[in-house]
This record gives sequence, C-alpha cells and structure tokens, in this order.
Amino acid sequence: MSIQTSVLGELLQRSTQLRPQLYFKSSLTALSHAMEDQVLASDAQPLIIASFQKERFYRQEAHRYERIAAITPHVYVLAAPETSFTNASRDYETIAFDPTDQLSREWHLVVIGPKYSTCLICQERQNLPAAGAETPHLLAMDQTRRFEGIWTFDPEVSRQAAEILLDRIGIYRPEIAAKLAEAKAQFVGQMPATRDVDPDPFAQRLVTYLQAGQYKLQKAYRSIAAKEQQERLVNLITSAMRQSLDPNEIFKVAVNELGAAMQADRCLIYRGKATDREVTISHEFLSRANLPSLLGQIWPLANHRLFQAVAQQQESISIVNTQAANSNDSIDLAPLAEQIQRWQIGAWLIVPIVYQGRLLGVIELHQAEPQSWSTDGLGLVEAVAAQLGVALIQAESYANLEDLNQQLEALERTRSNLIAITGHELRTPLSTIQVCLESLASEPDMLPELRQVMLSTALTDAERMRKLVQDFITLSRLESGRVEWHLEPVAIDECVTLALSSLRTRQSETQLPQVTAEMMRELPPVRADGERLVEVLSKLLDNACKFTQPDGTVLITAQPNGGKMLEVTIADTGRGIEPNRLETVFDRFYQEEGALRRTTGGTGLGLAICRQIVKGLGGQIWAESAGRDQGSRFHFTLPLAQESLELNIPALNGSAEKAAKRRASRKRAALG
Ligand code: ADP
Repeated sequence: MSIQTSVLGELLQRSTQLRPQLYFKSSLTALSHAMEDQVLASDAQPLIIASFQKERFYRQEAHRYERIAAITPHVYVLAAPETSFTNASRDYETIAFDPTDQLSREWHLVVIGPKYSTCLICQERQNLPAAGAETPHLLAMDQTRRFEGIWTFDPEVSRQAAEILLDRIGIYRPEIAAKLAEAKAQFVGQMPATRDVDPDPFAQRLVTYLQAGQYKLQKAYRSIAAKEQQERLVNLITSAMRQSLDPNEIFKVAVNELGAAMQADRCLIYRGKATDREVTISHEFLSRANLPSLLGQIWPLANHRLFQAVAQQQESISIVNTQAANSNDSIDLAPLAEQIQRWQIGAWLIVPIVYQGRLLGVIELHQAEPQSWSTDGLGLVEAVAAQLGVALIQAESYANLEDLNQQLEALERTRSNLIAITGHELRTPLSTIQVCLESLASEPDMLPELRQVMLSTALTDAERMRKLVQDFITLSRLESGRVEWHLEPVAIDECVTLALSSLRTRQSETQLPQVTAEMMRELPPVRADGERLVEVLSKLLDNACKFTQPDGTVLITAQPNGGKMLEVTIADTGRGIEPNRLETVFDRFYQEEGALRRTTGGTGLGLAICRQIVKGLGGQIWAESAGRDQGSRFHFTLPLAQESLELNIPALNGSAEKAAKRRASRKRAALG
C-alpha cells in the first residue's frame, strides 16, 4: 500500500495559519534529538510518533527508541524498510510503509505529553536519489539536505499532526486499531491541562548540537585552509619549476616557503643518496636569529640515524621530543646527541624526497622546543617533497639530455675530424704512393737510385696509413668496450724494457734523445694486461722522443703511489705543453699544430688510446708541463698486484702458465 498524500500538506490544509519554514537536515537532527531528550528527561508518559524516511535512518536512532519505549507504552515508529524493518508490536509499534509512499519524503516527530506537546512535520524539498545511487559526493552533501515544514510547541497543531499520523498508521496496521483508538482518546481527544514546558533539557541539547556543529565546521575550515595552503605551496614550487630547471633555485623557494608555512624554527632541504656519508647544507630557513645556522656546514649522514631510517623505509619520521625519544621510539637518538645539543633540536620531522623508490634527498624540520607535528603539516611537507622529487628528476633528465647532446656533438666533431683526417692523412700518402708507383710503371729506364727512393717513399706512406687505420680501430674498440683484458701480475721493469727495445727497433734510423730508465729495485708487480701496458709505454716514449731534440733526455721512473698503486712517469726535456692544453692533449685527434699541418708524424690518437687503456686497467693518466720548451711529464698509475701475488692467484683470464707464454711471445715480438 502506498499513500500519495503528504502529511505536511494535510496539516497545512487543516491549519491554514501555519507558515512552513526551511530546515537543513542537521537542524532537524538537532531538534529531533532535543525533543527525544526532553521525553527521556521527564517522568510523564507521552505519545511518540516518529516517521523516518528510510530504515537506515531509524537504525541510527533505534537504541533511543528502546529507551523511550521503556517510559511510555505509546511509541509508534514508521520507516520505509530496506533490510529487516517490518510491521511489528514489540517494545513499541513499528510500521513499515512502502518506499514509494509519500512518507518516504517526509520527516515527522510528534510528542504529546500530559503537560506539553511538540511536533516536527517536514517534507524534503528534492527527491532523494534512488536506492543504491548514492555516491560519496552525495553522502557528503547529506547534512545539507533541505526540508520544509513546521516545528512547534503549539498543542493544537501537535494534536492535529498526531491525529493525521495515527489515522495513517491505522491504514497500514488495522490490527492495532484498538490501541490507536486508545492513543487518540488519551492524547488527541483532550487538551493538555497546562502548557507547562520545561525548556531546559531541550535548550541544553540544542546548544550541545549547535556547539558540535560549530566544532565540525571549524575542523572543516581548518582542513580547507590546510589544503589551500598546501595547494598554494605546491603551485609556488611548480611555478618555480617552470621558471627554472635548476634544483638550487627550486630548493631556495621551497625551503623558505615551507619553513614559514610550517612555522618551523629551522627547515633544511638537501640532496642525498642512502649511501652518502655527508652533505654540505646549502638551503636553510631559520625563523629565529638566535638559533645557530647550518648553512655551509657539513651535515653528517653516515651516523644520522633518522636519515638512515628514512632512507631505508622511505617514510617520514617525526620526533616530538628529542630528549624523550629513547624511551618509546625504535630509533636510538644517542649517536645524534651532539647534533641535537649543538643545533638546538627539540622536535624533529624528516621527510624523504623519493621518486619511483629512489631516495633523492630529504626535508628536515627542526623545532627548538618539543612539539607534536600535525597530520595536516606532515601532509604539506610530504606534498612538497613529492614536487621536489619531480623537480630533481626533471633536472637530472635535462642534465642527461645535455650530456647526451654533448656526446653527440663530440661524435659529430669526431666524424668531421675523421673526414678531415681521412681527406688529408689517407689521401696525401695515397697520392704519393700512386705517383711513385705510376712513375715506376711508366718509366722502365728510371735510375736504380731513384727507383729505390720511389719505392721507399711509397712504403713509408703505406705504413703511415696502416698506423692510422690501426690506431683508429684500437681506439674504437677501447671506447666501445669491445676489448678483452688479460689481467695478470706484471713486472713494470719488464714492460719498460720491451717498450724501449721496440722503440729502438722502430726508430733505428732517427736520432733519438738519450733515454734512461731509473727503476727502483724490487718494485711490486702491477695487475695489468702486459701487452696493453707495453702499448701505453711505447706511445708515451714515442711522443717523448718525437717532441724532444736529439740533445735532450727522456727519463722513465716508477714508484709506489700511496698504498695500492704504482706511478710511472715519463719525463722529457722537449718542447713542453701549454698549461691550458694539458687535458686537451688526451682528446682524440688533438695535435698542437693541427691535424693538417703535421710535421712530426703520428695520428693524434696515441694519448687518447693511452687514456682508454689506463682507465680500463683501473688507473689514471695525466700530463704536467711548465709550458713551452719546458719539457713534459706524463704520469700514469696502475693498481698493485700484491693481493693476487700473496694469495698466489693466477691471472684473471687464464692460468699463470698462459700468462708466462704471453710474456715470452711479447718479448720475442719486441726483439724480433
Ligand atoms: P700524436 O700521434 O700526434 O703524437 P698523441 O695523441 O700521442 O698524437 O699526442 C697528441 C698531441 O699531444 C701531440 O700531437 C702533441 O701536440 C702533444 N704531445 C704528446 N706528447 C707530448 C710530449 N711528450 N711533449 C710535447 N707535446 C706532446
């Protein structure tokens, strides 16, 4: 059964003087609770009729109705059933109306006692959404649902409302007609003796509800303000990110804004990986002049328990009181005692800057006095940390891109260089060879001496071409990592001897400067690839001789450098290198006089090859010179093979026997 007429409409027809008013749902809840509390506070036995739009609304109040039913026998509760609400006569009468009934749009509460009457008869202004259609958004809007209707202490209006409702209940539940007639006779048929209303519990309850509402509002305002602040800060950082890709610029904005927003005594933002041992602080916000500044200070991270914990868990950590932290925290702050005291840290908040599981840095907030950190505040710092994570990754990607660009430019330079070299270096000897061979072929009567000159010129130039091609292939292999290293303990003096004899074989016709090797006795062996090492020594010796007059000298020395390396030096008294070229000489194709005006021969690839080999062997190579005509010194280091010798470990890529064979074959090659 579904009745389509409204109780409110009927009441307004009967009492034309009534003017309906608008109520929010929250107001109706407060009024209803106050009315019910008034019943509970008195010892009278009133008539109570309550109509809920849905079973679920009734459920929230069911316990109150049980308490009310203990006071008075005339309690009638109406609701549209959803799960288990049915017509029943238990502690009180329940009346289940059809969900399509007009009652499902209404909210009624009628209380008629011997001394006072009150009623609330309202109708919702808009239709409720269909069952199951509520979205979280609609639920959030629940408190702002609006009703229109009457709330009054007027006994006449209350009696009329009670009569309308009792008549309806009679239609839904004819079986309790007798009880309803009794209720009518007792509460509707006669006017209450007095209108002696005790407003106190009613007013008390209303005030409590108003207060609670106010608190809720305040909380909502606070959270809106926090969200607004968060949004503002994040926007600020985003716009800083848009203006600059430099993390320093972004950190500068973030540290000040965040420090001020969090009212922190100190705010630090720094970059750091989990493995970093320390960091120099370059971004700090300080709110008080009397607090020591950490700017420019080294901030140790290795023993920074909080940093370590944050790096490991990738979650924020807050310490309310650094002095009391030991008692209830899993993190022992004892190792930080000195920092805590020196930098006056009473409370600590540390938030990781993480991007896709990678720790990029940290935000630290310090308060001189102990204080708890609010959830909103923590949310704000974490939101900023997330933005900074993006900023850092953006900057990193940009730097990578720039790096890549530079590599591409270098590649392009190499390519052009290669074209120039090929154009000149290969074409020049090639045309010489061609001219020589053509002459030999076309002039059979050529003098034997001239014929000899032609032949040897062609051979020299062919050798020059072969070297260029060879060096270029070697360097390409080294640079692309396509080299197999035969690491073994190698005696440096043995390699120097090999390099020297190969130099003398190659340069037998040139007048060389005086070359001496002054090696310490019993030098520890190095762990290296012997053949490659001889190649480095040969190239450096070649250069030293090439750029030194025959009356000059070349000196080879070697000595241990620190604990784990051996340093080899090849010093000459030749033409020297300008200080600003000491690095450039290692570039591919670098030649002081330029590739196309070469007088000394060579490919310009020798030092580049040396650097690649030394790097591959785990050492470093560098040049020193006091300048033009001041001689040059080329140094390189190699790791000592001590450990492998002591433990009698054979070479990495083969047995000791194989290594000995290789040494022997090298010696033969150099001598032969
Ligand atoms: P190159 O085949 O031209 O010798 P390198 O790569 O070996 O190529 O050397 C590059 C350049 O570095 C040389 O052309 C020369 O200008 C300079 N250089 C190398 N070694 C010396 C040295 N011992 N003294 C002076 N200049 C040197």
